Amino acid sequence: MTKKTNTKLSFIGLGYVGLTTSICFADKDFHVIGVDVDKSKLKKISSGKSGIFEPNLNELLCKVLKTKRFSISDNLSDSIKKSDVTFITVGTPANHDGSVGLQFIKSAATDIGHALKNKSSYHLVVVKSTIVPGTTENIIVPIITKISGKKYDEDFGICYNPEFLSEGSAINDMNNPDKIVLGSSNSKSKKIINNLYNIFYSTQKINIVNTTISNAELIKYANNAFLATKISYINTIANICNNIPNVNVDEIARAIGLDSRINSKFLSAGPGYGGSCFPKDVKALIQFSSSLDYSPKLLIAVDEVNQLQPTLIINIIKQKLSFIDNKTISILGLAFKSKTNDMRESVAIKIINELLKQNPTIKVHDPEAIDNAKQIFGDRVDYHNNIIEAIKNSDCCVILNDSIEYKSLKPTIFKKYMNKALVIDTKRIFNYSEFNEIVDYYCYGVGSY
Ligand code: NAD
Repeated sequence: MTKKTNTKLSFIGLGYVGLTTSICFADKDFHVIGVDVDKSKLKKISSGKSGIFEPNLNELLCKVLKTKRFSISDNLSDSIKKSDVTFITVGTPANHDGSVGLQFIKSAATDIGHALKNKSSYHLVVVKSTIVPGTTENIIVPIITKISGKKYDEDFGICYNPEFLSEGSAINDMNNPDKIVLGSSNSKSKKIINNLYNIFYSTQKINIVNTTISNAELIKYANNAFLATKISYINTIANICNNIPNVNVDEIARAIGLDSRINSKFLSAGPGYGGSCFPKDVKALIQFSSSLDYSPKLLIAVDEVNQLQPTLIINIIKQKLSFIDNKTISILGLAFKSKTNDMRESVAIKIINELLKQNPTIKVHDPEAIDNAKQIFGDRVDYHNNIIEAIKNSDCCVILNDSIEYKSLKPTIFKKYMNKALVIDTKRIFNYSEFNEIVDYYCYGVGSY
């Protein structure tokens, strides 16, 4: 049974991370206030709609709203007054030069500073947003101290607690993490944050890494950059496989993944990583290293390999179709991965925008991301909620993610409905020999048999 707690929490920023973590805390009996500057988002959330496609998120949101352990507010000052610990979970989008954008962090720190002016009891601020080493202590703390007039470590404390959840499995990741990393600067803050997580995971054995704030900040980047490196590595192997008969990158990945020093995760080759984290975090770490006069050649290569992946897929499409002008191309899978509606930095954006330069008709389908895709492509592509309609009369169908809906499609469906049954499968979701017999099948990472 979960231990009881009187500690009250507030969260600033109810996006993927803030909403998921805040309602998971509420589900563990914490009283939680969620704050966001986006009033339309708050209205939706208070009616039980997260606005995010994430397995079980809406259900859990409705549950915690009903118990009254989770409430919504646009009044940060009041929320800080009513809570003991405030988590900062605002976005940290990339600047033009790849460095981490701190505009939302600075504005949240400013608001916290104003709110703390009128608070007499100790308040702990926990930063979860991804920021480079030094940001918490050199930027956030001075802003709060200056505006509030309060003493750091005496009147308020600060911890850095990076988030490692993955979209598509966010609630499960929050409830069953591989680790919790806690960076703190004094024993009081360290005790409060450890206590929170000990209560949250009171029935589980969890690896808690207590460390310095700067270590915790760098751990987040080192973690994401390593995963991105695995992806660019297996994509490099896939690019080699493409040119060798009787070779399949999945078999290579399965075998090398059996080596416990390597591990099988993040070895699925494809059109490149996207999403709101890996592209920006790798670039930010490169930029941060450069600011320290170190050129991180490995990370630069990881980023370059990733940027080239969509181009490779576009070249395959162009090569197979001879010319694109007036052709009809179907794209299945728009979100940066399956089981999410998040289009941020999705390779589909790069591929579709590039193809559109040559005037094809583009028909798109995604199980969850159509509404978000409309904000990006407007009326430049045709949207379909039905897969058959999306592939009908097409000259080429490109599979960009491994949604379960696509995996069950048979080659006869493509043969029957497409104008020319050319299927380019960037995620190897189909059985090679079954498809190769019936359609013109290009399977990325599989050398032609
Ligand atoms: P998001 O863009 O989905 O959400 C951020 C939210 O903060 C928005 O709702 C925005 O309106 C709100 N906001 C901005 N400024 C505010 C302010 N001053 N006061 C109150 N609300 C404010 O971002 P996200 O994807 O949840 O990411 C948040 C952070 O967590 C980022 O640093 C990101 O790199 C990191 N992260 C994200 C993921 C992920 O999978 N999305 C995973 C791990 C870590």
